[in-house]
Amino acid sequence: MLPGNGRITGLRRRTRPRPGAARREEIRVIRIDREKCVGCGGCVDLCPRTAICFVKDRAFVDVQLCLECRTCVNVCPVKAPSEV
Ligand code: SF4
Ligand code: SF4
Repeated sequence: MLPGNGRITGLRRRTRPRPGAARREEIRVIRIDREKCVGCGGCVDLCPRTAICFVKDRAFVDVQLCLECRTCVNVCPVKAPSEV
């Protein structure tokens, strides 16, 4: 039984994206160049999602956990992490 004479109330108008306000559809991930990484651990210590671990003495990003904050990119002394 619907309240209000069977009329459905409380529906909200759907908001549509404003024209020209394109949504960011690109998917970017952080990858670490194993050839450049010197295993200093700086990125591992500072990653807010603990998305970086060591694999065979080189940093490795779990892209499922990464939130693309770019902390690792900024902290790395040899510029091993990059957005791809
Ligand atoms: S971009 Fe941020 S969340 Fe992703 S691996 Fe680097 S420090 Fe961690
Ligand atoms: S900060 Fe750079 S060199 Fe150090 S472990 Fe991370 S990726 Fe490797």
